[in-house]
Amino acid sequence: MILLLTNPAVNVCRAGSEHEDLSQDIIDASLCGLGQSAPNPVLSTLKYFRREYEMHIHDNWCPTGVCSDLSTFYIDEKLCKGCGACLRACPSNAVSGEKKKPHTIHQENCVHCRTCWEACKFDSIKILPAAARNAGDAELEYLVDMVTSGRTGIQETVDIRQ
Ligand code: SF4
Ligand code: SF4
Repeated sequence: MILLLTNPAVNVCRAGSEHEDLSQDIIDASLCGLGQSAPNPVLSTLKYFRREYEMHIHDNWCPTGVCSDLSTFYIDEKLCKGCGACLRACPSNAVSGEKKKPHTIHQENCVHCRTCWEACKFDSIKILPAAARNAGDAELEYLVDMVTSGRTGIQETVDIRQ
């Protein structure tokens, strides 16, 4: 079940509806209760967290930063106080900056571990889609604005997809 649902050939499909169809097929075709109940976790999470499925599948984006391959950590200069907490916490020396000045995450060194995001008390670190790693300044500004304002629609991120 998990292999089927995590298969890229299935994941490129629209809005997770194929996951529901596939789950129903498994329920219908299973001969035992175990097989019939196997898709239940997927169906219930689709019911309550469909938006997160869509963001992962369509936008290559894990907005909580848990899926490291789908997250880009970025410091919003306008919010950064230069406290240095992220710099001290980073395990891979990916953060630089002087005291009381905006800090920067160097994407080439970042291993997307989320430690800096947890250390920042000022909500200055934003979790952006994977595509942001190669984005230009204008695209980054747009993405930060989108995340900060809570606008996380698929259509809004379609232009910056890799
Ligand atoms: S996500 Fe991890 S590796 Fe990347 S800058 Fe933050 S603490 Fe460093
Ligand atoms: S922890 Fe937050 S406020 Fe402090 S330097 Fe890092 S990004 Fe800036």
